[in-house]
Amino acid sequence: MMSVDELAALVRTIPDFPKPGIQFRDVTTLLADRRGFADLIGRMARIAAPLDPEYVIGIEARGFILGAALAHVLGAGFVPVRKAGKLPGRTVGMDYILEYGTDRLELHEGQVPAGARVILIDDLIATGGTALAAAQLLREQGASVLMALFAVDLPDLGGMAALEADGIATSAILA
Ligand code: IMP
Repeated sequence: MMSVDELAALVRTIPDFPKPGIQFRDVTTLLADRRGFADLIGRMARIAAPLDPEYVIGIEARGFILGAALAHVLGAGFVPVRKAGKLPGRTVGMDYILEYGTDRLELHEGQVPAGARVILIDDLIATGGTALAAAQLLREQGASVLMALFAVDLPDLGGMAALEADGIATSAILA
């Protein structure tokens, strides 16, 4: 097993992406490291397994990578939550507010049955707006959101606290 510090060192920071002033935490370097990827998914699985989720819900796009690997390890189904207009079937959606303007997340209608036990996965939580919208969408479908789980938390931005205030348990591997 790697230490959290070793794992954290595999995430690189790219300045001024996608806009000047933003320090982008890039997990592709961690994903490319075979020990790092296995260790990250192992840590996520140890947190998620006791919750016995039926579905892992991954948020576009890096949430698909982590979520699919985690679902496979847990023996759960994988369901994508995507940006508007990407899913081919009938969808249900949730609008949410960004710094400038709004965005929309969508889920295939009926893919998460009422009463389903789900966990939500993304690579990173910043303000929590994206994960909160995804959780609200899942709750609207009658799902029980057992936890929102992230590879990286940016605690200064308060996202995990916002989710907890909304009654959603959260966890992150790296801060
Ligand atoms: P939030 O909605 O402010 O919590 O932003 C989280 C969403 O934006 C997630 O889907 C992340 O993948 C993405 N995101 C925001 N900042 C970063 C970053 O520094 N690195 C990678 N993804 C980011």
